[in-house]
Amino acid sequence: MTRLKFWGVRGSIPTPGPGTVRHGGNTSCVEVRHGDDIIILDAGTGLRALGSALLAEFKNRPLNLTLLVTHTHWDHIQGLPFFAPIYNPRCRLRILGAPGTRDSLVSALTGQMESTYFPVPFAKVPGNIEIEEIQDFNFNIGAVQVRAQRSNHPGLCFGYRLFSPDSLIVYFPDSEPRAGGEDKEMLEFIRDADVLILDSQYDAAEYQTHVGWGHGCLDDSVALALKAGVRRLCLFHHDPDHDDKKIDGFLRRARRIVAKRKSKMKVDAAREGMTIELPEKFGR
Ligand SMILES: [Zn+2]
Ligand SMILES: [Zn+2]
Repeated sequence: MTRLKFWGVRGSIPTPGPGTVRHGGNTSCVEVRHGDDIIILDAGTGLRALGSALLAEFKNRPLNLTLLVTHTHWDHIQGLPFFAPIYNPRCRLRILGAPGTRDSLVSALTGQMESTYFPVPFAKVPGNIEIEEIQDFNFNIGAVQVRAQRSNHPGLCFGYRLFSPDSLIVYFPDSEPRAGGEDKEMLEFIRDADVLILDSQYDAAEYQTHVGWGHGCLDDSVALALKAGVRRLCLFHHDPDHDDKKIDGFLRRARRIVAKRKSKMKVDAAREGMTIELPEKFGR
């Protein structure tokens, strides 16, 4: 069985407050478990609470984690200095991500712990941390086959496909599909996913003033997922200006489009704490 849990679902910047309590205000972080393999997708501020939960669960047992970073924009890395397992010498954390375009992945991740920004320098962190830039787009983490693909987002940003023996999960948090729902490369990458976690930051009107910002629009996300035969779509990377009510509206619209097309695709708006177990039992 593969289990997926959302720890941060917001894009751009954390948004705590009464308007976002239901979906949550932390930035991108998703946990995927298959057997003993623990894979973390992105290190946004949601990573902090995941760290506390892992330490409470594992206590004194060694912790072996793999973190896949899509890119080094703030909302995908800021949780790392606050991830308690890195302060535990029993923790082994392997971080993989897109090669830096300006500075290396190492300097982007550790630079945010320099004294200008943070009190503890990376060199003083007692956990065993390895940071690697992905050169080969196909690799394995335990029994999970991973494929990386470049997404259409400023700088170098990856989406990830996790193919475990029982499921296919695709994570595409920051991506503006080329040609809307007709992006051929993206369609191939997300085809037949059991779960697709996809950037759906804007509505159609907002998208008009954000073309080229590297984020998706709800209608395009739904069109892509339908075309690719995805079983379950999770709207993700919620805009910081969108409160729970607005996100509810996104979800209603998405479900209306799916119903009109007479598709069985499930749609959810990702929210903190939401879990999905795979394979899912459909039709019950
Ligand atoms: Zn982002
Ligand atoms: Zn970004």
